Amino acid sequence: MDRNDPLDQSVASLGGIGKQTASKLEKLGIRNCQDLIFHLPHRYEDRTRTQAIGALKPGMTALIKGKVELTDTLLRGRKSLICRIGDGTGFISLRFFHFSAAQLTQLSPGTYLSCFAEVRHGYAGLEMIHPDYKILNNPEQTVTEDTLTPVYPLTEGLSQSLLRKAIKQTLNLHLKHLTDWLPESLLQRFHYPTLIEAINFLHAPSEQMTAETLLQNDNPARKRLAFEELLSHHLSLRVVREQARAQPAPPFTIDEITRRHFLKSLPFQLTGAQQRVITEIEADCSQQQPMLRLVQGDVGSGKTVVSAYAALLALATGYQVAVMAPTELLAEQHFRNFSAWFDSFQTQIIFLTGQIKGNTRKAALESLEDGSAGIVIGTHALFQESVTFKKLGLIVIDEQHRFGVHQRMALRDKGRNAGIRPHQLVMTATPIPRTLAMLQYSDLDISIIDELPPGRKPIVTSVIPSERREEVIARIGHWVAQKRQAYWVCTLIEESEALQCEAAEKTAELLTQVLPDIRIALVHGRMKAADKDAVMQDFKNHRIDLLVATTVIEVGVDVPNAGLMIIENPERLGLSQLHQLRGRVGRGKDDSYCLLLYQSPLSDTARHRLGILRDTNDGFMIAEKDLELRGPGEVMGTRQTGQMQFKIADLDRDTDLLDNIPTIAESLLHHSPDAVQPLIKRWLGETVNYAEV
Ligand code: ADP
Ligand code: MG
Repeated sequence: MDRNDPLDQSVASLGGIGKQTASKLEKLGIRNCQDLIFHLPHRYEDRTRTQAIGALKPGMTALIKGKVELTDTLLRGRKSLICRIGDGTGFISLRFFHFSAAQLTQLSPGTYLSCFAEVRHGYAGLEMIHPDYKILNNPEQTVTEDTLTPVYPLTEGLSQSLLRKAIKQTLNLHLKHLTDWLPESLLQRFHYPTLIEAINFLHAPSEQMTAETLLQNDNPARKRLAFEELLSHHLSLRVVREQARAQPAPPFTIDEITRRHFLKSLPFQLTGAQQRVITEIEADCSQQQPMLRLVQGDVGSGKTVVSAYAALLALATGYQVAVMAPTELLAEQHFRNFSAWFDSFQTQIIFLTGQIKGNTRKAALESLEDGSAGIVIGTHALFQESVTFKKLGLIVIDEQHRFGVHQRMALRDKGRNAGIRPHQLVMTATPIPRTLAMLQYSDLDISIIDELPPGRKPIVTSVIPSERREEVIARIGHWVAQKRQAYWVCTLIEESEALQCEAAEKTAELLTQVLPDIRIALVHGRMKAADKDAVMQDFKNHRIDLLVATTVIEVGVDVPNAGLMIIENPERLGLSQLHQLRGRVGRGKDDSYCLLLYQSPLSDTARHRLGILRDTNDGFMIAEKDLELRGPGEVMGTRQTGQMQFKIADLDRDTDLLDNIPTIAESLLHHSPDAVQPLIKRWLGETVNYAEV
């Protein structure tokens, strides 16, 4: 905080704002004067002209002027005060359900009033309920305002008028102190107003603008601020990247014999895409700067082995590797794969999650600290506590989309030891269109595995109404008779994990009744990790035929013989998530099927969405369609980013701004480096502590 900057002054420094109000403002994220200035209206009221009462129609929100003809209390129905006013063109009733005796006298016949409210149909013609009203001294008194009236987002206990006054006061005192960090050439290029013009305009727009057009997409004042905000988010990631890259990392080297030995001992040949990505990783890791790379590849494209190769580079140079997975199940699967692939190397690989306790844990931690363990594989719990490494050289984060940007930053910091930054490899199956990648991953270089291992047959997906459930169940019977395995996935909205588990339990019971000859087991998120793992292990070893599961199996689980998946209520999930789920089948050489068992009737949109899934197996295309149908706001706003929230920008309507941001950021970093930190501070606040090294 800069004490000399008047914009940094606490809101409590303003007249009329005490401690209590200040703490309420804080709930809205408003601490200092700059925050107040950037608290923009979400709509406006038009009090710039009065309407003739005779011209009013239901649904209009209007400012009117009139003379009280009659005031009375109604005791029929809900007790209310009715006041009838007229202006020579017509009459309207004002209705108050809460009123005082004083109001009865105040609103006595002959009084002149101005009122502002929505007009609606009442018992006897048009009426306004609880209008904002003012008693006029004379019929000629001016009641209109010069500008539209801003309506600000509020929080409990804070009134619109208080906020309006506070903001007005701040604008008068401090607007002049705002620095416009966008270069003039840029403003000209996009026909943007200056910062001060934009802010002034949005808080107190001139009457030529109607309230409706004001918040529209192409309003240059709003657009300019949205641009500045998106730019600042992008810049913050660029800064983080530069800071991370400024630290030394150990360059990895590997001899040809070790490399060949590793590749030869794999049970398959790498695809061209895997080889290309491996080359990119190797080039990164040979540098003295940390690698910051994201590997994107569709489900089943073989990302794990790519990360194992990166691990090999670290081990060959004498460094340790940490591999982090989003779930226990997945961590364990990686543990098994790595153990097999590194079988002929003298490397100790350990498994560490929150579930591992006591002496096992102690021994594991010791082996990391004294360097005897080369690779540790676990969940993110692994990094949440004091795990000390002797020589950590590489961090691998799998299924990155499960973690927010900030969480990733925090991890990177944890991995730092003795001034050395480990290289970092993150992997995701969720393709993010380039424009969005820029807001989420611009601290990373991106590699894409755009090829599946050979011999994979596309999954055949069908969309089936729940009325045909019995048919589907019979199909499981036939399937299992052919010695194959299947999944039955119960989905519900993500928030209610408990309900989801309950649904899965019921389904498992029901299926056990109707399919008595089939070995059925259940796995869900509320089970103890050990129990869950035992079930998964049984499924993998084909001691179970049908696995009833919740979406916990979404990521990574790999059982090639399980080639049939039924997904219940698929209409509730996003396309990309469904695609991930479906990616559990189709892992072997045989045919595989996914049945989307929907609850009818299905809306047109839902039908269209499921149709996309039926028609394509291409994860990138599905992500694009998902984006088109749901909009980037929804796609990014959910669990993918968690924390990514914007004050003004709206990804759905500001997508067009994204394209230009990287080049403009680049030029700003070069030509006006002084602008960068203040912009980040203005839009992201003090919360970006990862930006400080
Ligand atoms: P994902 O990219 O979804 O993480 P995985 O790494 O789990 O994919 O790989 C999916 C399956 O494909 C695994 O069984 C893995 O061993 C196998 N696999 C990976 N690469 C190849 C390859 N080049 N040829 C054949 N199978 C491969
Ligand atoms: Mg994977």
